[in-house]
Amino acid sequence: MVMKAMVLYKPGPVENEPLILEDRDVPEIGRDEVLLEIKCCGVCRTDLHIVEGELKPIKLPVIPGHQVVAVVKEVGKDVDDVSVGDRVGVPWLYWACGKCKYCRRGLENLCEHALFTGYSVDGGYAEYMVAKKGFVHPLPKTHDDCHAAPLLCAGAVGYRALRLTGLVDRGEGVLGLFGFGASAHLILQAAKALGLKVYVFTHSPWKIEYAYKLGADWAGETRSNPPMKLDAAIVFAPVSWVFIEALKKLDKGGRVVLGEIYMTPIEKLDYSLLWYEREVKTTANVTRRDVREFLELAEKHYIMPDITIYKLEEANKALSDLKHGKIKGQAVLRIK
Ligand SMILES: [Zn+2]
Ligand SMILES: [Zn+2]
Repeated sequence: MVMKAMVLYKPGPVENEPLILEDRDVPEIGRDEVLLEIKCCGVCRTDLHIVEGELKPIKLPVIPGHQVVAVVKEVGKDVDDVSVGDRVGVPWLYWACGKCKYCRRGLENLCEHALFTGYSVDGGYAEYMVAKKGFVHPLPKTHDDCHAAPLLCAGAVGYRALRLTGLVDRGEGVLGLFGFGASAHLILQAAKALGLKVYVFTHSPWKIEYAYKLGADWAGETRSNPPMKLDAAIVFAPVSWVFIEALKKLDKGGRVVLGEIYMTPIEKLDYSLLWYEREVKTTANVTRRDVREFLELAEKHYIMPDITIYKLEEANKALSDLKHGKIKGQAVLRIK
């Protein structure tokens, strides 16, 4: 059996269309694996970093894509958590060992042997893929296939960043969101559902309006001053000056969480911006707990992404539109 896939052989500027449409054999599964027939796959900024080469390649050629909505087509002998016909999602964390010191501390996102979907193994820009037992997730009934896809990374990794701010446990506080794209527009809804005050900082006038529409308490230009100091901030933009802007607006004892896997070099950091016990934390990858909790939250509070749909063969265009800030919400490839 053959399938269509968008394959990356050599990273390069997305304008040069580095992803190539190919016919490939449908992969075979092992005892602890499932074969998935893919319905949709979200297009994430991390995919852009993989395709353009800011993230060092682990496997080439590779099929990107790590927000996979699929139906189980076949299960291996040892698989007991899903059955043929189930609708499931596959996130960025493809597999973790469960044995290393990080896994034992509940930090499987930092696992020494972790595999990542669409990076160290083939992902969802294809008609089929293989996933591991225990690492596929049931999806909320409230969301159709294409609206479920963004929950798996934009939502789940954003939710990890939100948890790392400490405000979820506190149940109150002022949260600043810097950069208002695929993640932030979901995390705004989640943070409001969890009782936080949310300020949004963005450089696009249309996104300010959009943030208010989704329930922001205040929204403004990235360099402008909010009505109150921030207890925590999440920076979703991969640019260091935006991170510095977030630090400037942070209250004493506050924390900035960097939600991106990549950031431009930080050239100058004045110590006074960190003084008074301000903290900076990065978000690396995602755990199954983050994914499951966010999927439940999305179902309970009807947290719905805005999506722009592309065909599988338009993956280069979707990534280019993402790069140039043309997408409202998140791009999703509809595959079947
Ligand atoms: Zn591990
Ligand atoms: Zn992602």
